[in-house]
Amino acid sequence: MKWSFRIFTFAGTEVRIHATTCVLLHEFGHVLAARGYGIRTPDITLLPIGGVARLERMPRKPSQELVVAICGPLVNVIIAAAIYLVFGISAVIDPGYDFGKTGNFFEKLMVWNVFMVAFNMIPAFPMDGGRVVRALLAMVFEYGKATRWAAALGQGLAMLVAIYMLLTATFHPMLLLIAFFIFMAAGQEASAVTQQEATRDLRVRDAMLTDFRTLPPQATLRDGVTLLLAGAQQDFPVLDLQGGMQGMLTRRDLISALAENGPDHPVIEVMQPCPEHTGPDVDLTQALDALGASNCPALPVLDPLSGELVGLLTAENIGETLMVRAALMKMSRAA
Ligand SMILES: [Zn+2]
Repeated sequence: MKWSFRIFTFAGTEVRIHATTCVLLHEFGHVLAARGYGIRTPDITLLPIGGVARLERMPRKPSQELVVAICGPLVNVIIAAAIYLVFGISAVIDPGYDFGKTGNFFEKLMVWNVFMVAFNMIPAFPMDGGRVVRALLAMVFEYGKATRWAAALGQGLAMLVAIYMLLTATFHPMLLLIAFFIFMAAGQEASAVTQQEATRDLRVRDAMLTDFRTLPPQATLRDGVTLLLAGAQQDFPVLDLQGGMQGMLTRRDLISALAENGPDHPVIEVMQPCPEHTGPDVDLTQALDALGASNCPALPVLDPLSGELVGLLTAENIGETLMVRAALMKMSRAA
């Protein structure tokens, strides 16, 4: 009952409004601002303590990220200000405000919106405040550095909350949960951006495996075993007679099918369909997402014109590419 307010009673039935209605409006603040920059939002999930608008991507321009981050809390500011101006309602804003008390719906709605602004502007990821801090820092410093500093600030705040509880021997399970959540989310944001920075300016062709073996459509598991033992490659594309991609024989499937069906079993019945593929000029960060989403261990790289298989993208190869790049960058810095 604490999360909803009575609007009116009709024929003995209470009509109540849930606080998440404001969360929805808040999220639409972000969505509309992002849309202004041509970024779509496929869905919004409403949770009791807040919403998550899943934007296709966050704008990389600091000024745009700042606007998108601020437009959510701005909606709550507008709601609270409108109630204050239209109804002349004022209230003492205090963390112990009792939403369970009977009485003025608009007062509660106003206080609730002020709380939402305060909560969302905590300068830590994944709160809007964390994005605001990152955007402001990114106006002066490089984006990766700005993110790591903003993340460190959020983690520092979360730790302060935990230390405060320890020192004063007060225990708020909800507050501790939020602090923990913020600590983890800040770390995740920093490592995601570090990874993006590492793969930035790289294309699939820079990281793909080009020396690989394939299997013809009539191949048997015995042929697969021969290739598996001959080299370091673990997963083998199965091509049709025209050289088109049919599927992928993974090492795991090869071994388990061998035990079950014997070496004369056709590969075509065991292979994974692997419908996802990428192109040599695709951004590596984007291809990495596609590889993560695919249930095949290697992403086929197809020539966009001929459809011919020109490479394989594997997590192992991407890892090697990044190690080589890091080593070269270290050398050029030392020189
Ligand atoms: Zn927000």
